[in-house]
Amino acid sequence: MNYKDLADLIFPNAKEISYYEEKYPERNLKEGAEVSRFAPSPTGFVHIGGLYQALVAKEVTKKTDGVFFLRVEDTDQKREVENGVTGIVNSLKDFDILPDEGMISETEEVGDYGPYKQSLRKEIYEAYAKYLIEQGKAYPCFCSTEEVEEIRKKQEAAKIRPGYYGIWAKCRNITVEDAINKIKNGEKYIIRFKSPGREDRKIKHHDIIKGNVDFPENDQDIVIIKADGLPTYHFAHAVDDHLMRTTMVIRSDEWLSSVPLHLQLFQELGFKAPKFAHISPIMKNDNGNKRKLSKRKDPEAAVEYYKQEGIPVVAVKEYLLNIANSTFENWRRANPDKSMDEFDFNLNKMSVSGALFDMVKLLDIGKTVISKMSAEEVYENALTWANKFDEELKEMLKDKDFSLKIFGIERGNKKPRKDIAKWSDIKNSIIYMYDDKFLNSDVSYEFGKINDKAKITNMLKKYLEKYFDLADDKDTWFNKIKDLTEEEGYAREVKQFKQEPEKWPGHVGDVSTVLRVALTGRQNTPDMYEIMQVLGKDSIEKRLKKVIEQ
Ligand code: GLU
Repeated sequence: MNYKDLADLIFPNAKEISYYEEKYPERNLKEGAEVSRFAPSPTGFVHIGGLYQALVAKEVTKKTDGVFFLRVEDTDQKREVENGVTGIVNSLKDFDILPDEGMISETEEVGDYGPYKQSLRKEIYEAYAKYLIEQGKAYPCFCSTEEVEEIRKKQEAAKIRPGYYGIWAKCRNITVEDAINKIKNGEKYIIRFKSPGREDRKIKHHDIIKGNVDFPENDQDIVIIKADGLPTYHFAHAVDDHLMRTTMVIRSDEWLSSVPLHLQLFQELGFKAPKFAHISPIMKNDNGNKRKLSKRKDPEAAVEYYKQEGIPVVAVKEYLLNIANSTFENWRRANPDKSMDEFDFNLNKMSVSGALFDMVKLLDIGKTVISKMSAEEVYENALTWANKFDEELKEMLKDKDFSLKIFGIERGNKKPRKDIAKWSDIKNSIIYMYDDKFLNSDVSYEFGKINDKAKITNMLKKYLEKYFDLADDKDTWFNKIKDLTEEEGYAREVKQFKQEPEKWPGHVGDVSTVLRVALTGRQNTPDMYEIMQVLGKDSIEKRLKKVIEQ
């Protein structure tokens, strides 16, 4: 009896690996093209750090005319949720990080290197596990979970490195005969890798992001096929990235310490190892402590959060590029109007340690991004967002012409308004423009410096009677406000006032504020002239009268 008999007994129906090697040939790509992937588990939660990895992989493959694919890693069936793949596919779609190959829905996929869902690749893993067993590089392990736990406890008590290795690997040296007998007797088993490594030897690894790292060799006989017949992450990673012809594995640096094991697996399976680029996690400043963005504690860890808040997709991507490449910021400054797709992404410039997540900066980018959009674009985006998340805004946006006029205020000029960072800001920033909302609400007017009721009433009355004419151009309009200012005994020019402040109780700005607050309920708004043009005569009169009559 030999290893082959054992392998045949365990996997009687597995194909020869040559079948798969031929089925998934080397890709025919140009020199230097990188093949990379995003390989999440369908747990129902897409982490912003995952999106970040996907973006980096997409950038690298795009830049080299390579291939970016989406593989779904669903071998841990306990963690899986219904429609988990859909969530991942949609997130990539939302952020326009489209894979060239892989899963495109819960059940469909595109590309010649599939299946791209690990649970559908069982027979492939079996073929490669069988291949290892045939060569004595993997073996069935009959230890129960309790026995393995027992071993760990002993190691802990003796202060020895934990794990299933060396003398602790009880089933490592079971003879083929014994193993076959046990299996025939119906004993339960899993398959372990027989590590050829030694802990006292070092390996050198060059990581594209982390640089040169030395590790002790792996000597753990890790599980490759679990009791449920599915592979572990480590084994599936080696088999899949080999057969899918991945040239560069871009993944979270939580896997960096597994590199010695992975290199060993590639070696023992006879595969050429890919390059590795381990990305540092996105960090958060938590009261002075730097820690990873946490799925449990931080809402902004979920990609869904950005959608719900309506932070523009482009802003999120720009922000992620910003933390990925420190050169991005200067590039953006020098090229304010270029599409971020033109940025020359450089993997060698990735920061080695984790970047700090900065919401203020992200929202700032959001403001810039939205300020550059046309009224039409703002409208479309706001509507798409409102359709999903805000019924009231959706109603408000029904009158498209009026909405476009509102969004056109201070837009399309050299210094566009920059007060909207995200689509969820929109409602608050335009709600006062709607008569049905504004006139029917209890506005608590805060007039600022001039707050004497009689004075305000008088000013507004005079304005309506003597100065208000919607047909005025902007200069005429403003001169009239200045006339009113003077008539009321305030300084016509701010400059004048600043030179001799004791001479007047206030200046044209204070009078304008009265008008602005009466019209909008706010002291800060975009350009008042433009607002008045959009509101129209009727609405203006009603608004001023509302204050006058109060
Ligand atoms: N499924 C693994 C994870 O979500 C993938 C790691 C990898 O990219 O290889 O962490």
